[in-house]
Amino acid sequence: MLDFFLQFAIILAFAMSAFVGVVTLYYGQSEKKNNFLLCILSMLLFSLGYMLEMMGNSAGELLAAQKVLHTGSSFVGVFMLFFVVDFCDIKMPNAAKGALVVLSTAITVLVWTTGTHHLVIATYARTSRMPAYLYPVPGIMYYVVHVYPMLCLAASAVAICTKIPKHKGNQRRKLNIILLCVLTPILAELICVIGMVFLGANERSVYYTPHSLAIMGVLLFIGVIRFDMFDIVPQATMQAIDAIAEAYVLLDERLRLLYANPAARALFPDTEHLEKGAHITKIRDWPRELLGIQRSWDKRVVDFARQDANGVFSHYRVSLSSVTSRRSNAWVVLIQDVTASVNLMRRLEEAAYTDTLTEIYNRRHFTELALPTIDKAMRDKISYYVMILDLDFFKRVNDEHGHLAGDAVLKMTAAKIKNTIRSYDLLARYGGEEFILLLTSSDDNGIRTLAERIRRNIEEAECDAVPGITIRVTCSIGVARCDVKVPLEEITEKADKALYWAKEHGRNQVHFAGDMENEAECAIESAQL
Ligand code: GH3
Ligand code: MG
Ligand code: MG
Repeated sequence: MLDFFLQFAIILAFAMSAFVGVVTLYYGQSEKKNNFLLCILSMLLFSLGYMLEMMGNSAGELLAAQKVLHTGSSFVGVFMLFFVVDFCDIKMPNAAKGALVVLSTAITVLVWTTGTHHLVIATYARTSRMPAYLYPVPGIMYYVVHVYPMLCLAASAVAICTKIPKHKGNQRRKLNIILLCVLTPILAELICVIGMVFLGANERSVYYTPHSLAIMGVLLFIGVIRFDMFDIVPQATMQAIDAIAEAYVLLDERLRLLYANPAARALFPDTEHLEKGAHITKIRDWPRELLGIQRSWDKRVVDFARQDANGVFSHYRVSLSSVTSRRSNAWVVLIQDVTASVNLMRRLEEAAYTDTLTEIYNRRHFTELALPTIDKAMRDKISYYVMILDLDFFKRVNDEHGHLAGDAVLKMTAAKIKNTIRSYDLLARYGGEEFILLLTSSDDNGIRTLAERIRRNIEEAECDAVPGITIRVTCSIGVARCDVKVPLEEITEKADKALYWAKEHGRNQVHFAGDMENEAECAIESAQL
């Protein structure tokens, strides 16, 4: 009966390990599967050794089986430990990993050479009980060979136990399964040791390691199949990152390149041939805005622009965020091409600010810009002036030459004024054929001269919008000065009255508010109209 269970356990252990290995190899998506696969491979060797032992009759055959078996057992614990620390995101120094691999290799070598030094297996003997088995008589190193994988498994169990309380849900279930998996062979070994103490080392009736291997196989099967131990989420996430239009760059905490998706590789062609771990300063086109500010990077949005060989600008918006895991920190740099929306925004803003016919500011934007200009003039202790310009008898232009010709005259007038004033003077179309200006100056003379120059330039301008006809217009200009901060409407009204005075007194002239005594009467008439 015992034999049957033993044989069944060995075959089950082998079959389960093989099955779990194949499933993980083909369907496991996580990077964490590599050490797991090595662990499964060791389990396969382990159970293969048991199979060979089961079939062996002579001491030679048994020795060969023991070699295979102990090769598996020397590595199973180590790879299980590597897998567990990796799975639990615990940092294990490479030196420690290397030392453990060397130790496992040394033990394997010791087992394979036991025929010469007899340190692991002294000899083979037959059991006293029936049916008689041939069994290995332990040498002094036999116990080391047995205890070593158990210590690795015990270390794995401790590592998992520290992590279990920190997790919930599926991740916790996975950890529980792995814990059971590492505890099972420890328990089997304990039973075996107790059996040896009570029954003697030569009796192999209490011998559950193959069973524990079978149980491990079943548990791992459940872990992989039922709880998606190596689930597809990270792989799917990477796939999505590769498919997005935004450039995704992953940097380590010292700003060294870890990953760049295809969009990032297109944006920074250097990343194509740069090795993983290259510092970002090695990326030729890496924006200056994204250098050396990592302390304040988290959740920051940075904009930058880039000019191509033809002088065309592209605009980018960068979202920066930090990713912190127990093992390391990283920076996620997500770069979005916002050229289209920036250009659209600019066009919309332009449309909202400008008068479509004359392409100068509209009245609304003039009002918006006037306030800071007035504030600055007040700070600089200089006066500011509002100038209103109205074309004389403009209705006649429309009547005589048509509306399109009128439009052309308006355009020409705007251009003439724009070319006459200074770059920091504010000009807008105020109404139909009226223009408004906000100017600053330390004395009136400069403004008088400027206004007169504008008037003359318009008077001298010739519009040839209608073939064969030269259209000429004149304008009247009203100017008002202000030395204190008053509402814009107040000073505009003053300029308007001055304009009205100019119209009343013959047109084609500049009038400064306050220059004439009968202005008040004009103002009353202006208000009545
Ligand atoms: P005044 O010297 O008293 O200013 O005489 P005016 O004819 O210029 O004055 P009025 O305000 O009576 O007429 C302004 C005209 O300007 C009326 C309107 O047809 C014309 N106008 C307003 N906006 C436009 C425009 O966008 N295009 C054209 N072609 N004409 C316009
Ligand atoms: Mg008018
Ligand atoms: Mg007019």
